[in-house]
Parts: sequence; structure tokens; C-alpha cells
Amino acid sequence: MASPRAAAQVQGRLAPSPTGALHLGNARTFLLAWLSVRARGGAVRLRIEDIDGPRVKADAAAGVVEDLRWLGLDWDGEIVVQSQRLPSYAKAAARLIELGIAYPCVCTRKEVEEAASAPHEGMGPDGAIYPGTCRGRFDSIEDARAQTGRDASLRFRVEVANVAFDDGFAGPQAGAIAGDFVIQKRDGGPAYQLAVVVDDAAAQVSEVLRADDLLPSTPRQLLLYRALGLTVPRFLHVPLVTGGDGLRLAKRHGDTSLRHFRERGVAAAAVVGFLAKASGLRASGAPCMARELVADFSLVHLPRTPIRGDDHGLC
Ligand code: GLU
Repeated sequence: MASPRAAAQVQGRLAPSPTGALHLGNARTFLLAWLSVRARGGAVRLRIEDIDGPRVKADAAAGVVEDLRWLGLDWDGEIVVQSQRLPSYAKAAARLIELGIAYPCVCTRKEVEEAASAPHEGMGPDGAIYPGTCRGRFDSIEDARAQTGRDASLRFRVEVANVAFDDGFAGPQAGAIAGDFVIQKRDGGPAYQLAVVVDDAAAQVSEVLRADDLLPSTPRQLLLYRALGLTVPRFLHVPLVTGGDGLRLAKRHGDTSLRHFRERGVAAAAVVGFLAKASGLRASGAPCMARELVADFSLVHLPRTPIRGDDHGLC
């Protein structure tokens, strides 16, 4: 039997999407997520989120793992790969149908957008708000196909306007939630919202530290935790790393991939030192190892606004 001490251990996770090489922005988020957990003697899990359709690159997962190792971040246990866990997501989706919380929907994105641009309908943070067209329309995915000749996705029935929560870094959130959202795509694969909840719960993750572009997703994930009767982790959303134009760091801001630095002979300690200074963990940007930041780790001095990643001076 697990001791109470083991049961209370913090469990964190790194959840990279293998859409390309890790850049300074991903590296910063993973460094903070890792430090936050290691500073309390917790366990870190690594999960490769490789079900994100066309954005995923076949050979990127190995590169991401190599980049994390190079940075000096380690993890506990086996690497979890989402594409190997499809039955778990299907099971959760089936449970939500059984509970009457999820329903088949045959609307295309275009149809939803058209409906949203009609009077009285609207746009949410992630695009068009679903007007509820398919609510109560079909008994099952098979029934939807028989009636319409289309493959159906599954949507979560949202009965509330917001799910307030207290973010461990960003503070109290109103948690606006804009309409019924997709939990299973029309090809039968899970949507990100469902997969991330099923996986974090299965790994008993107690702390999710990630970039704040995912803040608007959190209320939907909270609804999924509740509906599936799962234990909700503590969420901490940290500001993004951007380019000088204030936009999320991307290729047009120059190559900030870890591979690029490595190939130019920049030491991992130099990259970690830069990130430590930019994150308020060290006053100087002097080279240091990730593990040297564990002992006195704190988010107190982490800037509350996005940090510039294209101004690194590393090479
Ligand atoms: N895989 C996502 C990303 O790389 C992170 C998802 C999450 O942390 O919930 O942006």
C-alpha cells in the first residue's frame, strides 16, 4: 500500500506536441514546469501529444526528447504517447454519451461559422460559438450517419456560461466558456481537450504548469474533470514567450530552436541561464544548469507579461 507521503507527492508533467523542434518558448515553459515539481521533490511525467493531426511531424518526437535531455530536464517512468492511448479516450467519450453529456454532431466548421455570423449568434474566444444545431438530434454516431450520410463528431453539452477557477499563477479567472465543444473528432480521434484530461487524470497529475495561451481551454477541461468524476489538478498558466512584435514566438522571429543553438556550439547552460534571468529566477543571465535552479525556485519574480525570446543574444 502506498504511504500517505507517497500519495501526497506532487506529480507534474511535460506535454510537448511534436510539431517541430523545441524553441525557447517551449523550453521556458518546460523548465518552469519541471522546476516547480522538482523543487518539492515531486515526480515529472513526459507525454508526447502526437494526435494533433496534420501539425504533428513523424520524426519530431525523438528530437523533442533529445532537446529536453540536452536542457537537463529528466522525467520519471515511461514516456506516454497519446497515439497509443486511443482506447482510453474512446472509453471516456462513450461514458459521456452514456451520461447524456455528449452528443453526435454532423455540422462542419463552415456551417458553424455561418450560423455564428447570423444575427443573435456569436463568436467565442476560439471562433464561432456552436448554436446547438445537433443537440438531441441523433441517438448515436451510427444514427447520425444513417440519417445524414456524414461522420459525426461528439460535442460536450455545456449548460453554464462560465466555470470560475483560481489559477496558481494567473489568479482568479472568470472562466468564460463559449458553447458546446468537440471532444471527439469526426475521424473518431479525441480532441485535445478530452485527451489531455484523460491523460492527466490517468497519470494522477496534481499540477499542470503550462503557457497561458491554454488559459481559455481550462474551463472546458474543468467541465470534463467534473463530468468524468476525476480529481482536478492545480493549474498554473505562465505568460508566453513572444517575439518583439508581441506575438507568440515563431519561425519569423528567427531560429530560436534548441537545435539551432546546439549546432552553433551554444551550451545548454547558456540557454538555461538566459531563461532563468528572463523568468526572474536569477539576476544575471550567467550560464547555469537546470538542476542548480531547483533549491531556491520560486515564481514570485516571474514577469506577468510576455517575455521576449528573440532578443536572447545567445549566438
Ligand atoms: N501539447 C500542448 C502544447 O505543446 C500542451 C498541452 C497542455 O499542456 O495541456 O502546446
